[in-house]
Amino acid sequence: MILPVYVYGSPVLRRDAEPVPSDYPDLKALVEDMHQTMRASNGVGLAAPQIGLPLRMFVTDLTPHAADEPKYADSRRAFINPEIYEESDTEVAIEEGCLSVPGLNEEVWRPESIRIRWVDEDWVAHDEEFDDYFARVIQHEYDHLSGKIFIDRLSPLRRTMLRNRLLTMSKGKYEAAYKTKQGK
Ligand code: ZN
Repeated sequence: MILPVYVYGSPVLRRDAEPVPSDYPDLKALVEDMHQTMRASNGVGLAAPQIGLPLRMFVTDLTPHAADEPKYADSRRAFINPEIYEESDTEVAIEEGCLSVPGLNEEVWRPESIRIRWVDEDWVAHDEEFDDYFARVIQHEYDHLSGKIFIDRLSPLRRTMLRNRLLTMSKGKYEAAYKTKQGK
């Protein structure tokens, strides 16, 4: 089921998300809905707060890029109750966008690689290192779980320049080629 994506200005995007309980009903169905929603909007990552659920989980799928980068063939994943516990000192600037901030793309500095532990939709524990674009997607989605949006990481000057555009967006004036929603 394709769900609407909550857009900038929705309070759920600013909340601290809660851990997912191990007996959460229909967790696999929720993961599948998130994958479908992400695919329908051409996203590579989607966090639960973006569909209005303040839960600590997100999905990723970089397989559309796997033709160029074979290492992304295994990137269709669900990260539940994740914890980034190591970050590289080296930071890189990569352009990011967000399904919750339609039409805006900005270069953001973040650590180049990370280590993260999480459980998947079968509640199997994982612990892996990620780098490159996959690390970027994970860090972007992970931020959503503590109410952060990528624009928070821009320079004060850049944020000031975008202020009116974001204000307009929060009032419901934006265009998106996928199902969106505001409020909650
Ligand atoms: Zn996002």
